[in-house]
Amino acid sequence: MAKKVGIPRGLFYYQFYPLWKKFFEELGAEIVVSDNTTKKILDDGTKSCVDQACLPVKLFHGHVLNLKDRVDYIFIPRLTSISAKEYICPKFGGLPDMVRHSIKDLPAVIDVEVNARQSPKGALKAAIQVGGYFSDNISDIRKAYNKAMESYTCFTAQVKQGEIPFRPMHKEQKKGLKSKKLNIAVIGHVYNLYDEYVNMNMLRKLEDSGVNIITLDMLESSVVNQHCGTLEKRMFWNFGRKALGGALCLAEDKNIDGIIYVMSFGCGVDSFVSDLIERKIRRVRDVPFMVLTLDEHSGEAGMDTRLEAFIDMVGWRYKNETDFSAHG
Ligand code: SF4
Repeated sequence: MAKKVGIPRGLFYYQFYPLWKKFFEELGAEIVVSDNTTKKILDDGTKSCVDQACLPVKLFHGHVLNLKDRVDYIFIPRLTSISAKEYICPKFGGLPDMVRHSIKDLPAVIDVEVNARQSPKGALKAAIQVGGYFSDNISDIRKAYNKAMESYTCFTAQVKQGEIPFRPMHKEQKKGLKSKKLNIAVIGHVYNLYDEYVNMNMLRKLEDSGVNIITLDMLESSVVNQHCGTLEKRMFWNFGRKALGGALCLAEDKNIDGIIYVMSFGCGVDSFVSDLIERKIRRVRDVPFMVLTLDEHSGEAGMDTRLEAFIDMVGWRYKNETDFSAHG
């Protein structure tokens, strides 16, 4: 019987699920993904996790609880770096330990370290270790890895063409927009943008209001890197580079009518990067910019009011202004 691997629907699930799914399936494992986020999953995560953690980490705990009694393994990779010469938030490096500390009676945790900082071979090395849970044959594991990479490349190509990732990921059809008047860039961590419970369906609400959404995943990395290269100092956080380089590139684009930054309460990276982005883009162009903060107490009415006000303001400028500020 195939071994069941549980994948919590949180954090980098929203970026790497197509890769992980293909890899495990090629090795004969059965994938079980935790349910879509609900109030219960969020409440369970908040109760089980340490108070100081950010919202996405608390939520990840809830997804582990949702899975733990129905799988043979839980996949919680120890992500140190996913790109050359860069790090990601240290919470990812300690995630398997945090989860083990907070949640008892877990099934076996696959917590292999992924460190691609020095070489992309770091990812292959990690894949071989993970594959070792399911096969003794290195050649089969390499084949599974190559197929998973092919599948991931197709997924990222679809996103680059303007697909919001949850659509190709969940095989959902793209919705036709009624009228596509405004182009609004939405910047934030994948787990804030694509978890529809946490962000209270923000992207769908924008689309329903006739907004064409642009996210960082849709930008070419070469263009993002080129813009980030204009900074005085190299950004060594993977997300910081993408967010800052992407925001500068979007701010320069006259077709972009507004930028929304979505941040998590309790995120050190966001508190720094959102402020830096606002300062930097102000020097490029007077594009409307708004920060939305998500936490476990965020109310949908408050979120809707802010979104509606932002869309109204951006729409008003689109109709009535050319390129001067609200202060004249
Ligand atoms: S980057 Fe921020 S939101 Fe993401 S895990 Fe780290 S602290 Fe949490």
